[in-house]
Amino acid sequence: MTEQLTRLGCLLLALAIGGCGQPKDPVFHDQFFAFGTLIEISLYGVDAQLAESISEEIEQEFMGMHASWHAWQPSVLSSLNDHLSRLEPTTTDSSILPLLGEAGRLSQQSGGLFNPVIGNLIALWGFHDNPLPVGTLPDGAAIKDLVEQAPTVSDITIGDDLITSVNPSAAYDLGGFAKGYAIDLAINRLRASGIENAIINAGGDLRVIGQHGNRPWRIGIRHPRESRILASIEVSGDTSVFTSGDYERFFEVDGKRYHHIIDPRTGYPARSTTSVTVIHSDAATADAATTALFVAGPDQWLATARNMGIRYVMLIDKQGTIHMNPAMQSRIHFESGLDAQISLSARLQ
Ligand code: AMP
Ligand code: MG
Repeated sequence: MTEQLTRLGCLLLALAIGGCGQPKDPVFHDQFFAFGTLIEISLYGVDAQLAESISEEIEQEFMGMHASWHAWQPSVLSSLNDHLSRLEPTTTDSSILPLLGEAGRLSQQSGGLFNPVIGNLIALWGFHDNPLPVGTLPDGAAIKDLVEQAPTVSDITIGDDLITSVNPSAAYDLGGFAKGYAIDLAINRLRASGIENAIINAGGDLRVIGQHGNRPWRIGIRHPRESRILASIEVSGDTSVFTSGDYERFFEVDGKRYHHIIDPRTGYPARSTTSVTVIHSDAATADAATTALFVAGPDQWLATARNMGIRYVMLIDKQGTIHMNPAMQSRIHFESGLDAQISLSARLQ
């Protein structure tokens, strides 16, 4: 047990130091809470004063984005949602337009499986910090009604001056995407300041740039059902590693798990997946893709990944089978003792 914990500690630490038992380079760490998770910034070989000031700026920006993109507390986004629900054409803060545009593009690529306008469904399931009474489920008729109204990003037009909607049930919830988008903005900010070697890690979802000395970073992927690392991936250069899992937010009724990733086609939590890990260059695409592929499940992930331009995927289904494409298999290292079945797909690219 102790040995296992030590090994786990070593792997988690590896996120920051690039490898256990190896000498450290000068490194600056900072951490804060935003988007409901711990955000950790690690900068390598950067002057301490610059590191301090840039990480302070990034923290402020994360706080600002979190406040402005909030789907249910008063925010730029929730005020936009109010107008959209009344089908009133409206202006909004121009800073969120690229975010909405990118979310719309990725949603279309995913065939609507990543759907950033199902905010009303997510609220119905109590995942807007409005948990349902213990032991209860949302009203089935209300779910059916929302599914029939079928809000999609094509219902919303983002014009030069005005945003308009033709579907009163469309409401933005960017929970499946905002973290990734924010990480990309922070990485752009680091690069603009001449910082080339860094990790921004948001609760295990992360983007790295550059390298740590001449070693790659080793990223741990957690086991979806046990408190240990399932596998690790070595990354360097410009790489994001994101995971969506049914263990992140859920409740149980009659022994059945109801989690926070909703299949827009049924209105219920996606049934066939426990976790999906994606490696991609930018974090926004990786974030939207993990959510979409989770919903796609073992039968549809390959086609959906192709449409979204994703080249590395690992999906663990409800039976515990690990689905991967060959390129992912060549990058992932499983911890010893893996007894799961592996299902290797056709090539993705
Ligand atoms: P992630 O952990 O990145 O998969 O994001 C999960 C969050 O995305 C949930 O808490 C919801 O806010 C939101 N969400 C749930 N289902 C979907 C979906 N099908 N498409 C887009 N966002 C979703
Ligand atoms: Mg996501």
